[in-house]
Amino acid sequence: QAKARGRNGYQFYAPSMTGEGLERLRIEAMLRRSIDKGEIFLHYQPQVEIDSGRLIGVEALVRWQNPELGLVPPVRFIPLAEDTGFINQLGEWVLQEACRQMKRWDDAGLNVPKIAVNLSAKQFERGSIVNMVGGVLEETGLDAARLQLEVTESVIMDTGDALGFINDLHSIGVSLAIDDFGTGYSSLAYLKQLPVQTLKIDRSFIKDISTDINDEAITIAIIQLAKSLNLSVVAEGVETGEQADFLMRHGCNKAQGFFYSRPVLPDDLLSKWRD
Ligand code: C2E
Ligand code: MG
Ligand code: MG
Ligand code: MG
Repeated sequence: QAKARGRNGYQFYAPSMTGEGLERLRIEAMLRRSIDKGEIFLHYQPQVEIDSGRLIGVEALVRWQNPELGLVPPVRFIPLAEDTGFINQLGEWVLQEACRQMKRWDDAGLNVPKIAVNLSAKQFERGSIVNMVGGVLEETGLDAARLQLEVTESVIMDTGDALGFINDLHSIGVSLAIDDFGTGYSSLAYLKQLPVQTLKIDRSFIKDISTDINDEAITIAIIQLAKSLNLSVVAEGVETGEQADFLMRHGCNKAQGFFYSRPVLPDDLLSKWRD
């Protein structure tokens, strides 16, 4: 019986690592050239005050349009960029472009109070994040108070001296948001020490807010936590009016999600929000 199982149950096939490995190398090579080839661009998603509908900011979200691969979502290429170190170049490009775009909207007469830009953990490893951010602000002329950087809980918990880096960023006038809040393992004691201004409630909690009592409880708890720590709170992934009503009833008056707008190109933001 054992013998039979040995013959039929075990499959000693070798997965074609060579093929996959080569494919990955090829995509990495294409990614490394993507900025120079003009294949990288940004979408912007509005952040809205729920009761007034006012535009309070936008989040910059990176996109890669490659002739061969099509539009590649960030969840597919950010990890590659992190593994290869390209994330540093990409992250700087994203920040530069986001700041330049703010200037263009200013010139066009659209008031976008704030722009949020995502940072990856790998961008903290070099230790010069504050120089990079300070340099970009200087060269683009954007007021530091209009820039918010988004990091996840894991970036904070896994980065040695995260407190130091975040204090440095705070000292040049940039604000910080904790992205996907509630999905990581941040310590509340630590959170209290950090000069963070905003918690972004992860969209996984918002999704079933009217049907799942656990998600409701977590969302309400995060809103309360933000209130007691004197932080601003934004709900991510708001797709329905009911979700927005729920949030407002429980004291969260800021939202981002498809209910308000998908991430869009700069001109679409202009045509929709300029009064
Ligand atoms: P994130 O920072 O949490 O960004 C929000 C994501 O949720 C975006 O996906 C956005 O399109 C999506 N989203 C917004 N509203 C809704 C909604 O109502 N319903 C649903 N189902 N989804 C919604 P996207 O653009 O694909 O980005 C995914 C993640 O990739 C981001 O999550 C962020 O972690 C990362 N990312 C994007 N741009 C950058 C970047 O420039 N640098 C770094 N390091 N990471 C980035
Ligand atoms: Mg984000
Ligand atoms: Mg998020
Ligand atoms: Mg996310």
